[in-house]
Amino acid sequence: MGENEMRDDASERLSDALTKVVADLSERIRSKHEFSIIRAPDSGYLYVGLKDGRYWSGGSMLYESTDFDAIGSVAECLQDCVMEVLWIVWPECPSHGFGLHVRQRSGEAVWSCEGAASHVVAAVGALNSKKAG
Ligand SMILES: [Zn+2]
Repeated sequence: MGENEMRDDASERLSDALTKVVADLSERIRSKHEFSIIRAPDSGYLYVGLKDGRYWSGGSMLYESTDFDAIGSVAECLQDCVMEVLWIVWPECPSHGFGLHVRQRSGEAVWSCEGAASHVVAAVGALNSKKAG
């Protein structure tokens, strides 16, 4: 169901990364907006954008030389895209309200709060399960 068209452009690795990162969005955002991997027609670069093509992460593009690059760049692109579409900083630290940044810890991509004392909030893809638990 339309999935094959996306698979042509986006590698399995980037598609899997996007599925993982989108799970970190709130239920409310996920119900309203569908994100996918978009190839810019002029440059051929890959971005995260709205499935209908209205917006994409103009400031950040996707790269995937390693698993961390894939998940990290997808997360940054989704942050950009959420900012453009919804005008919100996402995600925020539940304790301090700062915008979170993707960092690498022990080879794993994590959401990190860079406040006075920087700390890891959750692994990328586990933000909502972390809140629920
Ligand atoms: Zn914090």
